[in-house]
Amino acid sequence: MRTKTQRAYKRLLHEYSLGFGLRTPYQILVDAEFCKEAAKQKLDINVEFEKTFQDPTRHFITECSIQELRRQSQGSFEAQQMAKQFERRRCPHTHAPIAGAECISQVVGPSNEYNYIVASQDDTLREKLRAISGIPMVYVKAHMVVMEQMSTATKKFLEKKEAEKKGLSTKEKYQVDKMLHQDYVPKKKRKIKGPNPLSVKKKKKIAPPPPKKKNQLSDGAIEKKRKRPVENQEESQKKEESEKTENIPNPNENGEQKKKRRRRKKTKHDKEDANET
Ligand SMILES: [Zn+2]
Repeated sequence: MRTKTQRAYKRLLHEYSLGFGLRTPYQILVDAEFCKEAAKQKLDINVEFEKTFQDPTRHFITECSIQELRRQSQGSFEAQQMAKQFERRRCPHTHAPIAGAECISQVVGPSNEYNYIVASQDDTLREKLRAISGIPMVYVKAHMVVMEQMSTATKKFLEKKEAEKKGLSTKEKYQVDKMLHQDYVPKKKRKIKGPNPLSVKKKKKIAPPPPKKKNQLSDGAIEKKRKRPVENQEESQKKEESEKTENIPNPNENGEQKKKRRRRKKTKHDKEDANET
């Protein structure tokens, strides 16, 4: 089977899953004629189903189809062996079997409630089932299991559903989807908190205050030069006077005091010399 064909089948199954809730493992309902044709073409049916569906599958056959195979002697041994691999799908005709095609039609029902995929070689049955929307169908052709295109009824159903959804409110859409698929979970709308940050004008940055000038007060006024307090003036005058009198030799000073005074005088002179140079 070509990759392109497999991709197309995958897409088709995806549409069935969206529109009708078809889920894996896909449930394939096989009829007697399909078994006969597959046996005739010596197909490994599990391998072929895997190629066609590319996902896990379960295979079913009804009691009536098994009875049909038993009744036909010609070329049905291999088909019977194949049918034995499949799970039995109970039908209400155990005690009075009916034709396989009719049985399948009844098991599928008017709405394909159990999401069966029908594998049938019976053209009449397939034609009949095309009228019911949402039934994927496969048959054996050229050593492969091929899938039918979506039927007109199925396409119309999906288009109608889409149109209805477009005209409905979110709540109504949710309810429709809930009815169609029990496991539908709608996407939650994100609640917007506060204004859009992109639409809000940016706050202007507050410029740092200019550096203060010397003597400038916080209110802009320039501080007046403070006058020295009166006490300090007096003190400085006293200091000056003491400096003047300091170097005047005291007639009462002893030898030690004399030395001290001279040392002070000398250092003072040295400092003055250093400042001059
Ligand atoms: Zn039956």
